[in-house]
Amino acid sequence: MMPDQNNSRAAHLAHLRRQELAKGDPVPLPLTMASMYHLPGSPAGFKQYGRFDNPTWDAVEAMLSHLEEAPALGFPSGMAAISAVFFSLLKAGDRILLPSDGYYTTRLLAERFLKPIGVAADTRPTASFLDGGFDGYRLVFVETPSNPGLDICDITAVSKAAHAAGALVVADNTTMTPYGQRPLDLGADILVAADTKAPNGHSDVLFGHAASRNAEVMAALAEWRRLAGGIPGPFEAWLVHRGLETLDVRFDRMCSSAEILARRFLEHRTVRSVRFPGLENDPAHNLARIQMQRFGFLIALTLGSEAEAEAFIDGCAYIQPATSFGGVHTSAERRARWGDAVAPGFVRLSVGCEPVEELWEAMKASLAGAAG
Ligand SMILES: *Cc1c(COP(=O)(O)O)cnc(C)c1O
Repeated sequence: MMPDQNNSRAAHLAHLRRQELAKGDPVPLPLTMASMYHLPGSPAGFKQYGRFDNPTWDAVEAMLSHLEEAPALGFPSGMAAISAVFFSLLKAGDRILLPSDGYYTTRLLAERFLKPIGVAADTRPTASFLDGGFDGYRLVFVETPSNPGLDICDITAVSKAAHAAGALVVADNTTMTPYGQRPLDLGADILVAADTKAPNGHSDVLFGHAASRNAEVMAALAEWRRLAGGIPGPFEAWLVHRGLETLDVRFDRMCSSAEILARRFLEHRTVRSVRFPGLENDPAHNLARIQMQRFGFLIALTLGSEAEAEAFIDGCAYIQPATSFGGVHTSAERRARWGDAVAPGFVRLSVGCEPVEELWEAMKASLAGAAG
């Protein structure tokens, strides 16, 4: 655990733009909506066109790069960042390894659009990701904790073994954010994340980023974005910039509340099981203590049945029944409704920024009502 480094990153983040400001400039970031830039004569060294450059992207990327301690590029969604990694770095004949229990769309993307161009994808459960080694893979993709099951894998050990086998390691850090886990410091080559979730935090934007300390990788990603045209909107970038300013406080509150709530769920008689890396008896706990700065704000609960789970979610005044997670408001959903390989009563709960005792009172009342 290195909370002091997170604190210094957070303190500096709030003043990142200060050195660029001239007297009389607005302190908050101006939003620049532009496809054209004033460009007489030679275009070299200037902003040229809205698909190549935008000052609002530059500002949000400077923040992301500061947080990741690595060059970062913004994308219009988390999936756009993952697509950029796949399509800029893979070629026919390559094999990749994905988590079988991670974000479903990543596997579907590989199945639908990598396979037909000759890139094969295998899958493996996150909890046993090291088993079987990494020989023959060009790219190894980890998602830890996995969404929605919250299993984790050892990023350092995976990176070592994958590098020895000649593979690049990509880590999807969406569930943890740069304040909760630092995959690049643990050995991953590329980080991808959906800023749609906690980094933006207000459930009003889709955005993603990729970050890497490998200059060739970043050049390939930048070229892909410029040519393929999957660019973020400036207004979305502006909103994510605003969201990132408060990520530290929101994430701290959300993780602290999740630690309190997970323990109470564990003791609650109508909750069948709880997965949360911060619980001492959780299979992920020992590794989580070593590799994560915080335990996150997602809790996986299993209630007795589909009906009980739906009644718990819908009957709680302080839970938004919704897919996605990481907002200031607590939200939850039954993942089996999307076909995830989980029990019918499995609920993914995303703890928000509400005061925790009020949240628990509302949840306790709803659990009692749901159990009937
Ligand atoms: C949401 C999510 C994504 C995709 O992000 P979008 O912004 O919806 O494209 C990728 N990975 C994980 C782990 C996610 O939770």
